[in-house]
Amino acid sequence: MALGRGRLVFSSSKGSTRSALRTLQGSLVPPLTSGMHGLAVALFTTLFPSDCRLCGSPLVNISRLPVCEECLSSIRPIGGGLCGICGERVMGPFALFAEGEVRCGLCRRTQPPYAKAAAYGSYESGLRELIHLLKYDGVRPAANVLGRMLAEAIVPLQSLFADDAVPAIPVPLYTRKRHQRGFNQADLIARAFLKHDASGRFEFSPVLERTRETQSQIGLSRHQRRENLRGAFAVTAPEAVCGREVLLVDDVFTTGTTVSECARVLRRAGAGKVYVATVARTLKLEAQGARLQPSAAMTMAAAS
Ligand SMILES: [Zn+2]
Ligand SMILES: [Zn+2]
Repeated sequence: MALGRGRLVFSSSKGSTRSALRTLQGSLVPPLTSGMHGLAVALFTTLFPSDCRLCGSPLVNISRLPVCEECLSSIRPIGGGLCGICGERVMGPFALFAEGEVRCGLCRRTQPPYAKAAAYGSYESGLRELIHLLKYDGVRPAANVLGRMLAEAIVPLQSLFADDAVPAIPVPLYTRKRHQRGFNQADLIARAFLKHDASGRFEFSPVLERTRETQSQIGLSRHQRRENLRGAFAVTAPEAVCGREVLLVDDVFTTGTTVSECARVLRRAGAGKVYVATVARTLKLEAQGARLQPSAAMTMAAAS
């Protein structure tokens, strides 16, 4: 076995002994002796899947996360003209003629109960699959990468926090669902985020609970979604949020109904500003196939 910066490294292709293997970090490691290599391969294939769970290509490093470096590096942060409140993609007159911070049509009509929502990437392809790996396949090590992405997404919000200590509150699952899944993905992501956040101001505060089961939000109108979630959340420890800025954490921002309802409940419990951070976000315009070209995004950013 060879150690490359504390990481076990070898090929997963059985029978072949590669003389040198590159670590993820790009450093070369010494050749493996055949006996040790065989042992390492046996250990690897016993403990770890041999193929990337996203693209199927053989993994060449031992990692607790069965996803290759190419798939991970293909997940890019959202760029371009975004709504300054909810983070939705903004195009056309909204972007071009807005004064000050750009707002999407929805946030111009109604001020959301949260101050600002930030997301790392678009909820599609690799990022969507990575989140599903955690949520539906129970691959918990994915939470670490997702937490790191959340820490990156939060960077633009850091200067907005006035407080030194900010509760990081995961969006809760209903008890039965959490027991079925074995965990709440927002909990795992929030905990991983704390490890990656350089500011050190956030503290894990699971003070929200889901008081009843809610039906799926899919196919419901905006009004129906709000009705579906009304009264579904409660703050278990109001003293932990009263008079404080808080950060609400979830895996995906889809329509914003869930985080809005949580923000409303937190505000009612006395929280000051509620900020929202999610790993991914559904971008309506991208879903419709109207992608913003990078040059156009830059023009819009300049125009805003
Ligand atoms: Zn892959
Ligand atoms: Zn908006």
